[in-house]
Amino acid sequence: MVSIDLSSRHALVFGVANHRSLAWAIAKQLHAAGASLCLTYAGERLKSGVEELAATLPGTLVLEMDVTNDAAIDAVAKRLGETWGSIEALVHGVAYANKEDLEGSFVSTSRAGFQLALDVSAYSLLNVTSRMLPLLEKNGGAIVSLTYLAAERAVPSYNVMGSAKAVLEQATRQMAYELGPKGIRVNAVSAGPVSTLAARGIRGFTDKLKEGAERAALKRNITQEEVGKAALFLLSDLASGVTGEVLYVDAGYRIMGA
Ligand code: NAP
Repeated sequence: MVSIDLSSRHALVFGVANHRSLAWAIAKQLHAAGASLCLTYAGERLKSGVEELAATLPGTLVLEMDVTNDAAIDAVAKRLGETWGSIEALVHGVAYANKEDLEGSFVSTSRAGFQLALDVSAYSLLNVTSRMLPLLEKNGGAIVSLTYLAAERAVPSYNVMGSAKAVLEQATRQMAYELGPKGIRVNAVSAGPVSTLAARGIRGFTDKLKEGAERAALKRNITQEEVGKAALFLLSDLASGVTGEVLYVDAGYRIMGA
């Protein structure tokens, strides 16, 4: 008999901007499975929206954490150490690149733009994990991040975000190796296109949705909920033997040859 009971687990989820966010879909699944949640938001602008969402999942903590700010990450670690004492699940759902770096020429990406995209979208996986490690080590746990096919294929307009996703996926394997002995698993979900705030910043995104539905094996796009369920699987004991993997939740888009 298979069941997912996360009632003894504490989950830190970062990357909820609004009800369309993939991190929100994961948070809802974790909550339904009984996990205690902490949602973090990047800045004041998002605070009230995230608080409103969190209020629909009773018991959920809401804290500010810009992933480029080490002091903010340490403050969240301190607070969760005092409140929970351990973290068993960590969800990385953040990405950012300057708009001008997602348009036009990839080879013309500025040094600052490249560094910013990689810092927010990839280095944050290592850095937040490292700063939360004393809490993650207590009982062992699982980490899931969100990636995209542009990590391994050339995709028009993804530009520097494809570079960031390639690093994120490499980090998933390297971290899985390093943290395996501590009982911490690290995986990524590679999602097909879903209409979110970040995705709408990519030029031609609507065409991508249309093309995806035509070409994918399932002849449709994926839903947010499907990303949430796949992440729940990876964060639960159902995936206790799975680490260092990228799980494609793309309605069978990637497997197609023509
Ligand atoms: P989203 O709702 O816009 O979420 C992106 C989140 O990243 C937002 O909450 C954003 O906050 C946050 N963020 C940006 N800079 C940050 C910083 N410095 N510190 C903390 N948070 C920061 O879009 P999403 O599509 O759900 O994206 C979640 C993840 O899924 C991303 O890694 C994305 O690349 C990945 N993904 C998305 C798709 C898709 O089609 N939607 C497909 C594959 C993978 P702000 O709003 O304040 O910037």
